[in-house]
Amino acid sequence: MRTALLTAVLATVGFSSAALAEDMTVGVSWSNFQEERWKTDEKAIKDALEAAGATYVSADAQSSSAKQLSDIEALIAQGVNALIVLGQDTAAVVPAVQAAADEGIPVVAYDRLIEDPRAFYLTFDNVEVGRMQAAEVFKAAPKGNYVMIKGSPTDPNADFLRGGQQEVLQKAIDAGEITIVGEAYTDGWLPANAQKNMEQILTQNDNKVDAVVASNDGTAGGVVAALTAQGMQGIPVSGQDADHAALNRIALGTQTVSVWKDSRELGNNAAEIALALAGGKASAEIPNAIKFTTPGGKEMDAILLTPVPITKDNLSVVVDAGWITKDALCQGV
Ligand code: BGC
Repeated sequence: MRTALLTAVLATVGFSSAALAEDMTVGVSWSNFQEERWKTDEKAIKDALEAAGATYVSADAQSSSAKQLSDIEALIAQGVNALIVLGQDTAAVVPAVQAAADEGIPVVAYDRLIEDPRAFYLTFDNVEVGRMQAAEVFKAAPKGNYVMIKGSPTDPNADFLRGGQQEVLQKAIDAGEITIVGEAYTDGWLPANAQKNMEQILTQNDNKVDAVVASNDGTAGGVVAALTAQGMQGIPVSGQDADHAALNRIALGTQTVSVWKDSRELGNNAAEIALALAGGKASAEIPNAIKFTTPGGKEMDAILLTPVPITKDNLSVVVDAGWITKDALCQGV
């Protein structure tokens, strides 16, 4: 089983048998490990590395861009052969990529963009995630006052998502059917900050809010808490990550959609790519890599995986995929 998996991994990334992964160590720099989804990502990365005989080491920046820089320096000092970086602050992390490049250590920009063509960018299609969030909320609320709860201002995903959301809503906004009555970034993606922002926006609008496009499940949790305090739970709210709490809110009807990005797939791919790059493969030779043009106009080798919207109507998708058990969904499916 293990050998078969290893052979499959090596075949996918085009490893030559001479450059075996056995002695390799891959360092992962997490930005905010408290978020539920990163534990699933970590397991996938760790399992894939260990199946290939490689070693996993990691550090968590705890939402501090300064700590992330020292974490990465420490991982480099430990002698890692490749780095997988979930950037806390897209601009602040660039010197770490430079430091890795100086040592000839390849970097995978994991889930979040690092605007540096020396990094390989592996993510889901975040603009599409934004479109899916807005499309499901729009189906449930084709007219009315909308609130946009965005992600962290230092995470490029926040604006990718917001761009996709706008694409979907633009026509109804132009027609005067939808009005955006409040919009806020969420520092550190923290649910408590999303809740605070939502409370303020509700107050400013005398609670005249019909729908909330929240950018992930953590922020959706904060939004639903603010709505519940006003007896407004049940109005359309979006999210992403298929967090177990969010899937339960969907089952109960207090959240409309979560966009599921199978982070087991992302983590597995990251491990394979990190090992391939450490084994000497060029970024452009990674199977299925495309050219991605960054907002700053740089071209990067990238893979963008496809997300899936989950609503009350298709909760069985995440159950069938082994993402959550039927028992863990309070209402069942
Ligand atoms: C990720 C989301 C996650 C958020 C907060 C984003 O960059 O794409 O999946 O919920 O960060 O950690």
